[in-house]
Amino acid sequence: MHDEGSDCVCEIFEECSFFDRNEGLNNTILTVQRIFCSGECKENCARYGVYQVLGPEHVPSDLLPFDHLTADHLIAGKTKVPA
Ligand code: SF4
Repeated sequence: MHDEGSDCVCEIFEECSFFDRNEGLNNTILTVQRIFCSGECKENCARYGVYQVLGPEHVPSDLLPFDHLTADHLIAGKTKVPA
C-alpha cells in the first residue's frame, strides 16, 4: 500500500488517510512525510495527536501533520478554527 513507509514506526501509517489523499505529491514532500512519521517525530504530528486523544475516527482526512491549531481545536471539542 504505502511503499515509502516500510521503515516507518508510526503504528497508524498504513491506515493514515493523509497519504491516500496526497498520492502524487513530489518527492520533497514525501520525504518530509517520512521524517514526520518515523522515530520520535510522530509525537510532533498533529494527526497523531488527534488519533491518540480522540481515536482514529476523529482524524480528518485533510488534517495536515503540522496543523496543530486545528488539532488543538478538535481535541478541545471545538468545530471551528478562528480565522
Ligand atoms: S502523518 Fe502523522 S498520523 Fe499519519 S502516519 Fe505520519 S505520523 Fe502517523
